[in-house]
Amino acid sequence: MEKSYDPKQVETRWYRIWSERGYFHASVTADDRPYVIVIPPPNITGSLHMGHALNNTIQDILIRWRRMQGLNTLWVPGTDHAGIATQNVVEKQLLGEGSSRDKLGRDRFVQRVWDWKAQSGGTIIEQLKRLGSSCDWDRLRFTMDEGLSKAVREVFVRLHEDGLIYRLKRLINWCPRCLTALSDIEVEHVDTAGKLYYIRYPLADDPATHLTVATTRPETMLGDTGVAVHPEDPRYNRFIGKSVALPLTQRRIPVVGDSILVDREFGTGAVKITPAHDFNDFEAGLRHNLHRLAILDRHARMDAAGLRDAEANATLRERLASQSVQKARALVVEALEKGGFLAKVEDHAMALGKCYRCKTVVEPYLSPQWFVKIQPLAEPAIKAVESGRIRLIPEQWTNNYLGWMRDIKDWCISRQIWWGHQIPAWYCRNCNAEAILETASPKSLTITSDAKPIVARTAPAHCPDCGQHDFVRDPDVLDTWFSSALWPFSTLGWPDQTPELKKFYPTSTLVTGFDILFFWVARMIMMGLKFMEQVPFKDVYIHALVRDAEGQKMSKSKGNVIDPLKVMDQYGTDALRFTLAAMASPGRDIKLSEERIEGYRNFANKLWNAARFILMNLEGSRAEASLAERPIADRWITSRLHRCIGDVNRSLEEYRFDEAAHTVYHFIWHEYCDWYLELAKPALAEKDSAQAARARATLVESFETVLRLLHPFMPFITEEIWQAIPHTGESIMVAPYPSPNKACINDKVEQDIEGALQVVAGIREIRGTQAIAPSKQLSVTVATPTYVFEQSLKNHHDLIASLAKAGTLTIGTAIKHPTSAATTSIVFPGGSIVEVGVDLAGLIDVAKEKSRIEKRLKELVTHMEQDVKKLSNPDFLAKVPPDVLKKTKARHEECTAEHDKLTGELRRLREMT
Ligand SMILES: [Zn+2]
Ligand SMILES: [Zn+2]
Repeated sequence: MEKSYDPKQVETRWYRIWSERGYFHASVTADDRPYVIVIPPPNITGSLHMGHALNNTIQDILIRWRRMQGLNTLWVPGTDHAGIATQNVVEKQLLGEGSSRDKLGRDRFVQRVWDWKAQSGGTIIEQLKRLGSSCDWDRLRFTMDEGLSKAVREVFVRLHEDGLIYRLKRLINWCPRCLTALSDIEVEHVDTAGKLYYIRYPLADDPATHLTVATTRPETMLGDTGVAVHPEDPRYNRFIGKSVALPLTQRRIPVVGDSILVDREFGTGAVKITPAHDFNDFEAGLRHNLHRLAILDRHARMDAAGLRDAEANATLRERLASQSVQKARALVVEALEKGGFLAKVEDHAMALGKCYRCKTVVEPYLSPQWFVKIQPLAEPAIKAVESGRIRLIPEQWTNNYLGWMRDIKDWCISRQIWWGHQIPAWYCRNCNAEAILETASPKSLTITSDAKPIVARTAPAHCPDCGQHDFVRDPDVLDTWFSSALWPFSTLGWPDQTPELKKFYPTSTLVTGFDILFFWVARMIMMGLKFMEQVPFKDVYIHALVRDAEGQKMSKSKGNVIDPLKVMDQYGTDALRFTLAAMASPGRDIKLSEERIEGYRNFANKLWNAARFILMNLEGSRAEASLAERPIADRWITSRLHRCIGDVNRSLEEYRFDEAAHTVYHFIWHEYCDWYLELAKPALAEKDSAQAARARATLVESFETVLRLLHPFMPFITEEIWQAIPHTGESIMVAPYPSPNKACINDKVEQDIEGALQVVAGIREIRGTQAIAPSKQLSVTVATPTYVFEQSLKNHHDLIASLAKAGTLTIGTAIKHPTSAATTSIVFPGGSIVEVGVDLAGLIDVAKEKSRIEKRLKELVTHMEQDVKKLSNPDFLAKVPPDVLKKTKARHEECTAEHDKLTGELRRLREMT
């Protein structure tokens, strides 16, 4: 083995070998119990970020662990076509070339996206491989490949047949930049400082009296078709049934009573109703049969035709036509003010909806769209979680899920973009001549909500109504999440009844971030139950976000992004994986720092060095011997190892990756490397003895087991070392995962050895604080509280003496330490105290030591006085940030403790002389 570990060449070499040998592939004919995960398909536009790294590390840990346990593991990989995101990327490219998607036309544009995918779409896959992901690459899928497209059409048609898909003109969220509908959860709400405008609406038959309405959107008042007041509001209810003259227009609009829309405490208690531009108003409009008057076009600009229908005053109409919302707002407010209609303006905080892809302000927009009637699908999906057939982990997410599902709204699935699954619906030109509006230049196609669609798996041959065969296909594509909702069964071959589907559905675990719980997880549950009549997965493990060390969201603009690819280059993939696993505490965001990754790189190096030590000590025979015949150090480490194995398996069962990582880390670093390797040395040194042969056997067996235990977390280094030490099998990744053997666990041996090791640690502590050279032999006294302790420690007299370099070591209940001894107390579980003494006579220069302590005491007193001054100063306490206060208090406590300790030592030194 090389002197130091070089991750790069090891990682590429082993990944290639594993892949070539087919270890990642799951057999559809194997009898073993399956364990299946489907990957959350990353966008083809994606490049590996820390979120992916965490998500895929966790999946790979589960898959490698279960594979080693002998399960038939399948990890289905794939990518998502990511409709709007991908379309935006290619549109940007075209813009750079002075072209556009409209210039190209639909077919050529879509081809252009496929070309882009062929060139750049594989990046993220190669990056997942670098991470060590043991996906079944033979089964790589893409949400727009042929099979998945077939599944999408099948689902669409069946839902339509069941009356669960409909097309209707409704108010939806619209991005005026992407020019497409968005679903509710694709809108991000951003708190913004806005204004509340109070506008006077005079009564039509009594212009001297007016109702004052409050609104955040004065420009949409031109589209008002009513005013609402609360029916029980004594200020206003006499106006219900009357009309107001809408300012700046020729129209009269009714005053209605509506207890749902009106909040008596808000504004004036009277509100305008603009059904075409506000979701709540849309509903109110339905309740009161008000008509919908759209005054904004699809670019969110004032629409000339709409303004005419609104009967806006002619001069204003001219000024407003084609203006943006912002500009129109200023113009309308100016006109209101001029006409004496503006009562007042107030500052008002509000949440503004923005497009989650391009951050443009989203407009409610009236247009014909396709919807999924979601209630009938949501009910079984609620039951699946309530009944525990699907478990969300951590459990706290269950309430979020249920709350959202119980309040779910119909899902708008049509998007007015080109990249995606085109909706399988056709319109007969003959029967829908009025409803199909087509212009040649600029090329546009609008199909009104009056058109009658024919939904089918393939283009219909002739119209069932008129027999003609001239059709136009619905130009819309489906929401990207429509295809990913089918992912757990479409990737296995559905709608065909494939052997894969039979074998691997339902899947076992889904690993995902909470940000796509509703976008994706909830919809997979609904679709899985509907089309497979079984839950798509049993456990959903929901991990947190990866943030920077201060807990800030990583972003390019803040410059705080830690790039997983760079980290892998610098510290090795295993260090990155182990860091992410160790920090994956349930429900808590990960505050990632490079120091942590560096720390686990050191852990990898520690393991490497241990391997080299072991290899150097393997010369000579190894004796098979029962545990009882082996040296006590061997029995101890074997007992600890099996306890650790039990804990790691249990933590993994509970998805506690952090606990599993800490357990294995602590065991390897502190127990195995720090103590056991040292404890084993004396026996190993007896070269040809039977004891040495047994010790060597334990050394190899335990280390080989440790490597297998660690493999799912650090796959590369464990394989490299495993191949170098004695082992059976061709690769660690297909070797069995350790399972705990109760017969190996021995409480008595653990207690005894740990007692002895604590005494050694106590002696070493004194050697350290007294600055006694490591080579110097010590004279040690150990005072035990009981005879049982005395016996137990005496049993390990030689072990303590050798590890602590104690030339003389006396242990007993009646021990009195010499006056020249430095002492320390060790508190055992249960409260018993063992006192360890090291005779300093002849070992240290008492005068020098005394002056050192006196000097340090002086320093401490100065610090303590300063801190006391601060902590009793009310000004300081009022201004200090909490973390600084905490630090100051902690330092004060540390100084006090050190002061007490050194005072005691000084007293003892004085007694010595
Ligand atoms: Zn947008
Ligand atoms: Zn027809």
